[in-house]
Formats: sequence, structure tokens, C-alpha cells
Amino acid sequence: MEDTKKLKEKLAHYEKENEDLKLKVEELTDFFENASMPLHWVDGEGIIIWANQAELDALGYAKEEYIGFPISNFHADQEVIQDILTRLTNNETLLDYSAKLQCKDGSIKHVLINSNVLRKNGKFVHTRCFTRDITEKIREDQRKSDFVSLVSHELKTPLTTISSYSQLLMKNTKKDEGINFQAATKIQAQAKKMTAMIHDFLNLARVEEGQIRLNEETFELYPLVEEITGDARILDTKHKVRLIDCEAVTLFADREKIGQVLMNLLSNAIKYSPMGGTITIGCRKQPGKVNIYVSDEGLGISKTDQKRLFERFYRVTNDKVKTIGGFGIGLYLVAEILRQHNSQIQVYSQEDEGSTFHFDLEMVISNKTTTFRF
Ligand code: ADP
Repeated sequence: MEDTKKLKEKLAHYEKENEDLKLKVEELTDFFENASMPLHWVDGEGIIIWANQAELDALGYAKEEYIGFPISNFHADQEVIQDILTRLTNNETLLDYSAKLQCKDGSIKHVLINSNVLRKNGKFVHTRCFTRDITEKIREDQRKSDFVSLVSHELKTPLTTISSYSQLLMKNTKKDEGINFQAATKIQAQAKKMTAMIHDFLNLARVEEGQIRLNEETFELYPLVEEITGDARILDTKHKVRLIDCEAVTLFADREKIGQVLMNLLSNAIKYSPMGGTITIGCRKQPGKVNIYVSDEGLGISKTDQKRLFERFYRVTNDKVKTIGGFGIGLYLVAEILRQHNSQIQVYSQEDEGSTFHFDLEMVISNKTTTFRF
């Protein structure tokens, strides 16, 4: 009798627990179903087994046109979705993975995918995936780039004329003519600076179209760095620019583009050290390679901003830099040019102490008769 009573009590307890669980599941399902962010689950075969209304609305499909179909049907780039599925099968978590989705009306949505796998007792249950629409941002960036490259093309011709005439003036003016020579020198250095900016803008368009090409040659680093620091010294009297240990470094690289990298890093060092200080361009020689660095004693960069510095159009927005102008493409190009050279830009920075940007390049070892590459 006593046992039956106990059993009944236990049963009532489990029934209550079961009801509570059901309620929780319903609440959760309701939450996901009505969430404003697009969500879908995919099974081990790559078939969509569930999607919420936000996902269906975003892509324009009805439930019966979406659920039960392979996820690959809705991706514009098949290589990308195969890569996503392989990564998830290997238990990777995807964070902001960039993809393009195919909408019902034929348009393409650019999204960032965040996804991971739900496993039970080690076994694959399904992947959970939420997407963030970045189509508008991509379009906005495209509009900016189109504008920038249009303006750059228009500026190229007048700037070439200014540059040639200032060169002519410098040639025809003797150094001891004081102010005239100085003026011509400054015009020439400013014209060079503007030309470098225009090259940046035009290169931005080329990177986007996948058209950036390297024109590699063997050259000495020192004359290049000397030229760049020389121009900076003419235009900027507030900072002390030092050059350390860059003699006898022979590189096999795109001279013009490495010049652009150094010019960008140096002009940033000047721009973001408004209080002056010393800027150093230096080389640390190691077996087979050289580590080139540009360091300043300026504003420094917070850890959070350091993670995003090399993104296209990314600019720091705190009070200290809000009056300093720029487009947020210099470091993006630096990273891209170095990536093309199988190298990577790195940053070390402490707020209010300064920043050091550095990268490695292979060195060419030359002796009297032969030049070979490591
Ligand atoms: P821009 O200078 O045109 O904004 P960049 O791509 O060259 O674009 O730099 C991106 C951001 O990184 C800048 O907005 C600036 O805040 C920060 N930054 C770059 N170089 C330095 C530096 N040497 N010191 C401090 N901040 C820097």
C-alpha cells in the first residue's frame, strides 16, 4: 500500500517535470521562431530541417520552398557552401564567415554566417546557423570605392603636370636662391604625397577587382627608405625621423608597392603623433629575412581597435583622433600588398605610448658574382 502511494507520488512528480520541460521547449521554439534574426538548422546531409520566419522573409521563400531542401541550393557560391559544410562536419565553429545567398527574386544577399554543431553523446544532431545581412554595407563600400576611383582618375593628370613643373623649377633654381628653391622642393614633396594617395585609391579598386599585380625586381632597400624619409622630413618639421640599420638589405619584391607600404606607415606615424616625438624606420636582419618596422611615440591604438585596423574603410573613432582626417584604406592596402608578398603586417601598440607596425620580407643574399633567393 505504502509502495503504491510512493510510486503514485513519483509519477505525479515526473509528470509535473515533463509538463515543465514541454513548456520550456515550447517557449524556446516560440523564441527562435519569432526571433528577428534569421536562423536555420541543417542536418548531417546538408538538408535544411528548420528555419524561422525571419530567415524565410529575408530570402523571400515560403516554408515549403525552403525546409527539406539542400542548403547548397540557396548559396550563390558552391565552393563556399562546401567549405562551410566540411568545416562544420569537422566540428569547427564558424564566426562571421562571409557568404552569398540566393534570394527567390534572383537577387543576392551578402551575409555573415555564425554556426556550430549540436552533438548529443558525441553524435552529430544538426548545425545551428544564424546569418547577418551585410548587403547594404557592401553596397555602401562599393559606392565609396567607385567614387574614390573616379576622383583619383580625374586628379592624376593635373597632378602629373604640377609634379613635372615643380621638378623643372627645382632644376632651374639654385640651392642658394633660398626661398624659391625651398618652395619648389615643398611643392615637389606635396605632389609626391598626393600622387601616393592617388595610387592608394587606384590600388583599392584593383584589390577589389582582384587585379593587383606584383612587378617584382631585385633592389636595395636603403635608397628607397632614404627617399621616403627625405620627403617626410621636408614636409614635417615637428617629428624627428630616424633610419636604423636598413643598409645592405637586398630584396626581391615590388619596389613601388613596398614604397607605398612604408609611405603609408610613415605618414600614419606622423599623423597619429600630433604631439611630435621620434619616428623610427628600422630593420632587424635575421637569417634569410629582414623584419622592417616603423615605430612612433604617438597616440597608440586600443586592443579592440587593433583587431579591426586592417579592414577596408575602418577608422578609429575616439575623441583623440576625431579631428584627424583620413579614409581608412591605408592599412587595408598595406595588409593586402604584404599578403601578396607572402608576408603579414603586425602591430604592437600601447595607448598614449606609441605604435610599432612591422613585417618580414625575404632577403636576397648577394655576393660579387651571383644573386640568389632563399
Ligand atoms: P586613415 O589614417 O586614413 O584613417 P588607415 O587605414 O591608414 O586609415 O588607418 C586606420 C586607422 O588606424 C586610423 O584611423 C587610425 O586611427 C589608426 N592608426 C593607423 N596608424 C596609426 C598609428 N601609427 N598610431 C595610432 N593610430 C593609428
